[in-house]
Amino acid sequence: GKAGDIVDVDDDAGAVPDWELLRSQFPMIGDLIYLDNAATSFAPECVLAAMDQFERSYRANVGRGVHRLTRIASQKYWHAHEKAADLINGEGGITVFVKNTTEAVTMIARGLNWQPGDVIVTTALEHHSNLLPWRALEKYGVMLRIVGLRPDLTLDMDAFSAAMDDSVRLVAVTQASNVTGTIVPVTDIAGLCRRYGALLAVDAAQSVPHMPVDVRALGADFLSFSGHKMCGPTGTGVLWMKEPILEPLFLGGGMVEQVTDDGFTPAEGFHRYEAGTPNIAGGIGLGEAAAFLKEIGMHQIEVRERELCSRLIEKLSAVPGVRVYAPVDPVQRISVVSFTIEGIPPHEAAAYLDEEGGIMVRSGMHCAEPLMRRLGCPDGTIRASLAFYNTESEIDTLAATVREMLS
Ligand code: PLP
Repeated sequence: GKAGDIVDVDDDAGAVPDWELLRSQFPMIGDLIYLDNAATSFAPECVLAAMDQFERSYRANVGRGVHRLTRIASQKYWHAHEKAADLINGEGGITVFVKNTTEAVTMIARGLNWQPGDVIVTTALEHHSNLLPWRALEKYGVMLRIVGLRPDLTLDMDAFSAAMDDSVRLVAVTQASNVTGTIVPVTDIAGLCRRYGALLAVDAAQSVPHMPVDVRALGADFLSFSGHKMCGPTGTGVLWMKEPILEPLFLGGGMVEQVTDDGFTPAEGFHRYEAGTPNIAGGIGLGEAAAFLKEIGMHQIEVRERELCSRLIEKLSAVPGVRVYAPVDPVQRISVVSFTIEGIPPHEAAAYLDEEGGIMVRSGMHCAEPLMRRLGCPDGTIRASLAFYNTESEIDTLAATVREMLS
């Protein structure tokens, strides 16, 4: 049941996956028109089966004891870390399983030893989850600098350079926006970080599911993403780090090598950062999802979604009264499209789309209120966000239903 059984391609080959067959692997789809993938994607049979198999045939704790079940569970759970690392070329770094991107960013923010006067540079594109954990450090004398956008909704790289100096301790950027779909030039930012000796933390929640991400080529020190947005289970995510420089946020069983009467020696590798019994079924499902995406090929996924996204933007833009918020250049955006409809509040529009068209889109602030204000959308936007399993006809139905709403 994995993608490899039905898709005979490798990442860079010209052969195109059978998208229709892949779509049939997602039992949730049915006749729904699901365009809310940036919030949470659907999960394929192979992910569901991997979790089910753990629960039914080898359920036991991991990293503890020596009996047969715990050995199988541990091995599968550890192997899932390798699969997740493999998707982002993260071998050699430390791949920690967490609850979600929010937890990963929080672990970075809480795990570094901040000094008053330290500066964090971040951007106006950020999701609240890549803003509030940094804001919380202001009480220790840490200062935030927020880099803005150009009118074309790309990041203002001149302003970024100007924000950098020797006081910058860390740069926290999203690789792709969950509102405008803007792709941020992370490799250029990594160059700036090296020049000023700053750490680079990348929020890859929206990039890992939709484009090839190579953490080594990017030059990131930390990279965070969520399992539930990449065909994996809810309650799973990854914090990848180049070196184990963070203090662990959670202490207790499973993260120690040795505990004496007055202290402890932390364990090596990801164990140090995974205190307590983890989400084992979830972790195994996440590994499966990573392998599934890798087998389809992230490059193939990127190309397919770019095609769908261009159609989406074109069709929506052609409807009088619709305003689309997305960079013009297809290579500067992922398949997330925000739009507003003249005279119709976003939640009302989204409710109509569901009731009249069976279409699921997100509406509101998208956990990015500062960005909404900058975009001049105080009531938020409607957001259609795609996955590789969406179709041309779903996009056409969305555009037609929006048109009908206005008539
Ligand atoms: N960062 C971005 C860019 C996101 O789109 C999301 C999605 O909700 C998050 C962070 C937070 O992810 P999670 O809710 O899985 O913690």
